[in-house]
Amino acid sequence: MKTTDNYKRPVISLRISITNRCNVKCFYCHHDGIVAQDYEMNPEEIYRVAKIARKIGVDKIRLSGGEPLIREDVVDIVRRLSHLKFRDISITTNGTLLGKYAKALVDAGLNRVNVSFDTLNPETYKFITKRDYMELAKDGIKKAVEAGLNPVKVNMVVMKGINHTEIWEMFQFCRKNGVVLQLIELLKTENCEEAEFLEEYHYNMNPLEEELRKISSNVKKRAFMQDRKKYFIDGGEIEVVRPMDNTQFCKNCTRLRITPEGKIKPCLLRNDNLVDLIEPMRCGKSDKELEEAFLEAINNRKPYYTDKC
Ligand code: SAM
Repeated sequence: MKTTDNYKRPVISLRISITNRCNVKCFYCHHDGIVAQDYEMNPEEIYRVAKIARKIGVDKIRLSGGEPLIREDVVDIVRRLSHLKFRDISITTNGTLLGKYAKALVDAGLNRVNVSFDTLNPETYKFITKRDYMELAKDGIKKAVEAGLNPVKVNMVVMKGINHTEIWEMFQFCRKNGVVLQLIELLKTENCEEAEFLEEYHYNMNPLEEELRKISSNVKKRAFMQDRKKYFIDGGEIEVVRPMDNTQFCKNCTRLRITPEGKIKPCLLRNDNLVDLIEPMRCGKSDKELEEAFLEAINNRKPYYTDKC
């Protein structure tokens, strides 16, 4: 069974933010759209939320945060989720703890990983994250490939004057290591502590995509993945993710989010239509009632960028 929203978009993917704690401090971070609050669901609660989501048609699940690998029970969480037979379980991580966990996560049932890694320059890494962990993250990427995660993707947020000149170097690093490069447009968001600076770093992806189109042996559009483009070059792959002002991105969005404190969040960019799950769960509501909370959140779904605005 698939559940579709009022805009005919099936809801097939769930992104659970399992913590808002993080061990790096990226200046542009939108915190997955979640206003900080120190709260986490326990593994049983995460499992129950995923079970209900599975029932209403979600078949892909991604753990995010904060930094998901900062939780010592992350392997246990993945193992529990693997019993629900999702088509795909993935994690988005900064990679600094992947060297430690990659193998155990694969054994627990993790399929894929995205590693946020914006630069191969230690100074730039430090400028972006305020930490000196570049080598750790790089090692994490390699360990993820060795452990058999497939695909491993590098998420590179492209920023004018910070790392935009590194795209080709990053592509070569990814190609050499059997990793897909995902270039992400910098999103201007109020959830970010340094929101006023984001305008000056915003990088226009149009000329880049034009260049990619010319040199690719093949270009694919990813339906149900916000219509993203995938470019195949020299045995490597580049995906481009451009959410800003992108009506196609919203039109093809199939995702719901869960905040660390257990609320269903229908859109990354909105905070006015959340539906609480944790309170009902903790006061003994039935699975049927939780399912209704999911349906309410799906009913709240509305494209953020539309042709009419
Ligand atoms: N800590 C994990 C990590 O580093 O991947 C998961 C959380 S992080 C918020 C998830 C993704 O959002 C990362 O790939 C990050 O680069 C991206 N991201 C954060 N803020 C962003 C922004 N303002 N624009 C575009 N992407 C952003």
